[in-house]
Amino acid sequence: MAANLTSDAAFSKTVLRLLSGLRRTPQGDAIYKHIATLLEDHESNRVDVEHAYAALLDMLLSAFVEKVPAGSPLQVQLKLLLLHLTPPLSVAELTTLRNCLRLYTEELSRPGTSPEDLMESALTPLLEDFVGGKPARPKQAPEPASETGFVERRRSPRAAAQAERRVDSAYRQHLQQKRESIHRIQATLAQHITDTIRQNEEFGVLLEVELDALRSAGSIQEIDILRKTLVNEVEKLQHSHQSLTSRLEKTHQVLKDVEAKGQELSDELTRVHLLSLTDELTELPNRRAFLRRLEDEVGRVQRYGNSLSLVIVDVDGFKAINDQYGHAAGDDVLRAYAKSVLSIFRHHDMVARYGGEEFAVLLPNTDTDGAIAAIHKVQRAAAETTVDINGTAVPVPTFSAGIALYLPGETPTDIIERADSALYRAKNLGRNRIELASNESSDALLR
Ligand code: GH3
Ligand code: MG
Ligand code: MG
Repeated sequence: MAANLTSDAAFSKTVLRLLSGLRRTPQGDAIYKHIATLLEDHESNRVDVEHAYAALLDMLLSAFVEKVPAGSPLQVQLKLLLLHLTPPLSVAELTTLRNCLRLYTEELSRPGTSPEDLMESALTPLLEDFVGGKPARPKQAPEPASETGFVERRRSPRAAAQAERRVDSAYRQHLQQKRESIHRIQATLAQHITDTIRQNEEFGVLLEVELDALRSAGSIQEIDILRKTLVNEVEKLQHSHQSLTSRLEKTHQVLKDVEAKGQELSDELTRVHLLSLTDELTELPNRRAFLRRLEDEVGRVQRYGNSLSLVIVDVDGFKAINDQYGHAAGDDVLRAYAKSVLSIFRHHDMVARYGGEEFAVLLPNTDTDGAIAAIHKVQRAAAETTVDINGTAVPVPTFSAGIALYLPGETPTDIIERADSALYRAKNLGRNRIELASNESSDALLR
C-alpha cells in the first residue's frame, strides 16, 4: 500500500512537471491547479478505498496462497492476482472474483482433486480477466458546473432586475453548453490520469514479485516457467509503457483543448459582461452600469462624506425628430448627444444612457453649484451641435435637466426619485431648463 502511495505521489509529481508549461497563461495555470487538486484528491481517496478492499482481499486469497508451495509458479500467479486486484474494483471485476470463488467451492467438494488442479481451474478465469485486458471502469460523474459569475448578483434599485433580464437568456444557455463541454473534457482527462497512474503502479510492483519468485525458485523447471512468465510480463509492461506514453500524449492534447476552450469561454464572458453594461446605440454605459456605479458612489459618500450630484437629462421634443425625420435620424441625434454634447462632462463623471432619450450623469465630489456650471456648459455644447439629416445640418433639440445633491442617509432610489421629479418640474415649466431637486434650494430656477 505504501509503495502504491509513493508511486502515486511520484507519478503526480511527474505529471505536474510535464504540464508545468501550462502555467504560462492564466487559463493554463487554472487548469494546472485543477489537475494538481485532482491528483491530490485521487491520492487521498485511494487510501480509504484501498484499505477497505485490501482487508477483504487478504481474507479471501491468503487461504489460497498458504496451500500452495512457496515460490511455486502457482503461488507467483496468486501473488500476481492479489496485485492485479488493486482496488477500487469495478462491478465486472467483482463478478469475476465471485464466480471464481464459486468454482473453487464446487471443485473442492469433488473427490480426487489436487489443490494445484483446483487452484488452476479456479484462478485461470480470474487471471485471464485481471492480468489480461481489464474491463473499463465506470466513469466518474463530472462535478456540477460552478457559477460563471458573469452576471454579478448584487442589490440594486428598482429597475436593476429589469436591466439584468436584458442579458439574452439564449446566450446564457450557449455559455452553459460550453461549460458542460469543458467539464466533459475534464472528466475524460481525470480518467486518463487515473488509468496512467494505475499502469505506472503495476509496472514496479510486478517486477518486484517476479524477482522474489526467481530468488526462491527451487528447480530448473520452475525457473523456466518463471522465465516465461517474466518474459510475458515484461512484454505486457512494454506494451503498457507504450500505451502510457500515448495516453500522456492524448492527455496533452486534451489539455490543449481545455485551454483553448477556457480561453474562448473567458473571451466570451468578457464580451457578454461588456455588452451587459454598454448601450449599443450610443456606446455609453447603460442603466445597469449606471445603477451599479451609483451604489458604489453612494457607499463612498456615506463613508467619506464628500458631495455627490446626480443629473438626469431628457431631450426635449425628441419624438418630433422621429416623427419628422424618421427613427434613424432620431438615433443620430442620440449618438450626437453622447459624442458631442454630454462628452463635455469631466472624465471621472459618469454619463450613462438611462432610458430612450434620457441620460443620467453622476458627478462625484461635486456640489450643486458645480453641477449647474457643468450643465450650463453642456447646454452651450447642445446649442452648437447639429446632425446631418439627408445632407442638411439639423440642430439637435435642447434638453431639460433635474439635479439632486445626495442627502445623508438617502438610498440610491431616493436620489434618483428626487432628480426625476426635478426633471419633471423642468418639463412642466416649459423645457430647456435646469431644476434643482426640492430638498435643495427649491426656489432655484435656472435658465
Ligand atoms: P419631452 O420634451 O416631454 O421629453 O418630449 P419627448 O418627445 O422628448 O418625449 P416623449 O417621451 O414623448 O418621446 C420620447 C420618444 O423617444 C418616444 C420614443 O419612441 C423615442 N425613443 C426612445 N428610444 C429611442 C431610440 O433609441 N431611438 C429613437 N430614434 N427614438 C427613441
Ligand atoms: Mg423621456
Ligand atoms: Mg424627452
